[in-house]
Amino acid sequence: MHKDLPSVTVSRLVGYLRVLTDLEGEGVVYATSERLGGAAQVSAHQVRKDLLLARVTSGTRGRGYTVAILRRELSSTLGLTRSWRVAIVGMGRLGQAIADYPHYKGFNFELVCAFDRDPSKVGKIIGGLPVHALEELAPLTTELALDIAFLTVPVSSAQAATDLIVAAGMRGVLNFVPTAISVPENVRVEPVDFLAGLKRLAFYLQPHDEQLAPAS
Ligand code: NAD
Repeated sequence: MHKDLPSVTVSRLVGYLRVLTDLEGEGVVYATSERLGGAAQVSAHQVRKDLLLARVTSGTRGRGYTVAILRRELSSTLGLTRSWRVAIVGMGRLGQAIADYPHYKGFNFELVCAFDRDPSKVGKIIGGLPVHALEELAPLTTELALDIAFLTVPVSSAQAATDLIVAAGMRGVLNFVPTAISVPENVRVEPVDFLAGLKRLAFYLQPHDEQLAPAS
């Protein structure tokens, strides 16, 4: 419905939703774009522009947005009012840590099962999830109506595992592996790269006069 929204706008909308969820939890009824922007670390002008792009209509001149309504509208725009069924592919250290994270349900993400190629893990319940063999990935994707894969395999297996996920019919991959993977146009990959975040931090933390100096 809103597939034409720029990716940076979608990222900011996700940020506004987090702020609105906190405000609603605190019992706040109205919030101005200044308040939303302050909490989301963007300007009020940017907030208004993004919400306009997302075709959100709940603002009232003066009082601002009704927090509960805006939160519902944004949840709907972001596709968070339907449920998403998720599998973890690669049940190693990171896969298991993710399985232990308790907060998916609140956002309609349901962790259903895991897949791994290690026979010593297959058939076990790890982090509360049944671990299946890779041969089961295609039939179980259909049977369990899996939508999204968390990709947590080693770099050397990333593309092969992705090809299996795509062939099985899942439409989204949250890629924790620090490498680029290729998918067809109808599949979406979102990279989660904490090293990229660290590099961005290094840029902002270095003294200003070093930032634009040519490398020696
Ligand atoms: P790990 O070696 O502990 O686990 C990898 C798991 O993937 C193993 O269980 C292995 O059997 C399985 N696997 C290998 N090939 C597979 C395939 N084709 N299909 C399904 N399963 C397969 O590794 P890890 O530390 O959990 O890291 C996983 C990925 O996440 C790596 O790419 C790593 O760079 C990245 N990552 C890890 C961390 C971390 O803190 N551990 C943080 C950020 C990113």
